[in-house]
Amino acid sequence: MSIEQLLARAALVCQQREVRFTPTRQNVFCLMAQHKGAISAYDLLEQLKTLEPNAKPPTVYRALDFLLTQGFVHKVESLNAFLFCEHFDEHHPMQLLICNDCGLVIELHDAAINSAFEQQALLHGFAIINQSIEAHGRCQQCSSAA
Ligand SMILES: [Zn+2]
Ligand SMILES: [Zn+2]
Repeated sequence: MSIEQLLARAALVCQQREVRFTPTRQNVFCLMAQHKGAISAYDLLEQLKTLEPNAKPPTVYRALDFLLTQGFVHKVESLNAFLFCEHFDEHHPMQLLICNDCGLVIELHDAAINSAFEQQALLHGFAIINQSIEAHGRCQQCSSAA
């Protein structure tokens, strides 16, 4: 799916949710959509400055907050970075596989993993509010290159 198509879909979602998809939010959305793998807020700010020279850290953090709330991006907790998600139309279970060598992040959507996790938590009387399931290792390409 092209950036234009993704942007159009996101704009529609925002319209339905009655939230404002401002030009800065759209710029950050497009930068995230073009980026392969996870990106830190700092690197994102450097890229945004090429489009908006006056952009400051709060500019990026506010835009990222918005994108996170709408489900357009995910936070990669173990990298303190952000990952674009094409599946923003619906809430979905998520697990991440992160390559330590090339930085590739593979997003999995296995509902069984999350529900098993939730059931284990319930056995301990624990109610999960938010969770991140992330694994680090080496991707197929990096494994075969070694
Ligand atoms: Zn996702
Ligand atoms: Zn790799």
